[in-house]
Amino acid sequence: MPRLLLVSNRLPVTVKVEKDSVAVVLSSGGLATGLRRPHERSGGLWIGWPGDVSRLSETQRTQVEARLAEERCVPIHLSPSEVSRYYEGYSNRVLWPLCHYMLERVPRQDRDWEVYRKVNERFADLVARHYQPGDTIWVHDYQLMLVPGLLRQRLPEARIGYFHHIPFPSSEIFRTLPRREALLKGLLGADLIGFHTVSYVRHFSGSLLRQLGLDTDVDRIMWEGRQVRVGAFPMGIDTEAFESLAKEPSVLEEVASLRRSAEGQRILLGIDRLDYTKGIPRRLLAVQRLLEREPAWRGRLRFIQVAVPSRTQVSEYATYREQVNELVGRINGQYGTTQNVPVHYLYRSFNEKQLAGLYRAADVMLVTPVRDGMNLVAKEFCAARPDDDGVLVLSEFAGAADELHRAVSVNPYDVEKAADAIEEALEMGEPERRERMRALRAQVKAHDVHWWVSSFLGRLQGLPSVSVRKF
Ligand code: UDP
Repeated sequence: MPRLLLVSNRLPVTVKVEKDSVAVVLSSGGLATGLRRPHERSGGLWIGWPGDVSRLSETQRTQVEARLAEERCVPIHLSPSEVSRYYEGYSNRVLWPLCHYMLERVPRQDRDWEVYRKVNERFADLVARHYQPGDTIWVHDYQLMLVPGLLRQRLPEARIGYFHHIPFPSSEIFRTLPRREALLKGLLGADLIGFHTVSYVRHFSGSLLRQLGLDTDVDRIMWEGRQVRVGAFPMGIDTEAFESLAKEPSVLEEVASLRRSAEGQRILLGIDRLDYTKGIPRRLLAVQRLLEREPAWRGRLRFIQVAVPSRTQVSEYATYREQVNELVGRINGQYGTTQNVPVHYLYRSFNEKQLAGLYRAADVMLVTPVRDGMNLVAKEFCAARPDDDGVLVLSEFAGAADELHRAVSVNPYDVEKAADAIEEALEMGEPERRERMRALRAQVKAHDVHWWVSSFLGRLQGLPSVSVRKF
């Protein structure tokens, strides 16, 4: 197995500072879990930002470096200004809303591009320094769109893959970006460019044609004397881990206690980062609409909405948070009683075990983003239902909708229809619930994160070597 150099904005670790000591804890997120095995087995390196370590003492820093080296992680340290301009500025204020079709949120001034470009160069330099002939390089996500091209200049013979974890928008949207050509050329430095869905691949090909006049021949583009491949590789989750968590006795006790406390009520569940792409206000409006038009459901619904604090340094997120707070208050003010409120809003994060309990306790899971590259929560919900019960209501604008056909599909922009979908899910009979959940679970099992990693890497490593690919 060739050595794998993984490159992502964040390293799959969290640095935890205690009083005198410092701990480096491995992350348990989907990407980290999926890539851990190939990372270890190939004896490769993972290159990325370990988070802000600027406040650590010299000794603590040395400890962190040593622990990272043990995990074969190579840190790239970002200055506060780089964090605010490359990460929060260009990545999260420009590329994130743009790729999610929210042009009105993109700032009018293009101030942070230079820093984005420079940090991408720093990443490319560091990767090139660690590269050995024969290595496979796999770059991840929109923070690093220029890295494949910068690497190609430094390492003409290297095998380079890139995966885009968020949507790739229609060319009509992408063309509004002042730096559209530079970003497309950046991606074309890769040998294989992966997206979650076929639509994103088509959108990317559309942009190549429109901006660079390049034709895509099925899955192949000719660029600067090389062949570049594109493909859809829908990311999966660690299905087995969620399934076994959902069977643990301590989790089942939690489930029973939650259900007891909601006696006589049906549980609706939403789990999202507090991000404006997740459609939380529209989801709240749909629940409100249901309560408004069907008095029989009043007092009989408990909507638990987990909203994980996210990107709190970006002002759009603070405004969005206030909007959600206000809506929750309005609905609870209107439909709450002295005994109960319809919306249980939890502004914090939970660990996987707690999430498994929530998933397993829910009657209806509401995954209704207005735009989402994939949405792993939808898949985790299915994995955590070995009882074959529970109904998934899924937005047609989530990448996961391309695979999870037996969910109740919803257009989150249509509040009335979304209320219908929630009602349909609440009233669905047991045989249909089981039939749908079995189909969903089969899909999530067959296409887990390990399948995703091996299908992308299999494709990348199966390509002919660069000298053959040249024409
Ligand atoms: N998640 C978590 N704690 C929480 C809520 C969510 O660890 O309290 C995890 C969840 O298990 C999932 C991820 O965050 O793996 C969210 O991924 P998704 O693709 O749904 O959305 P993203 O946040 O990447 O846009």
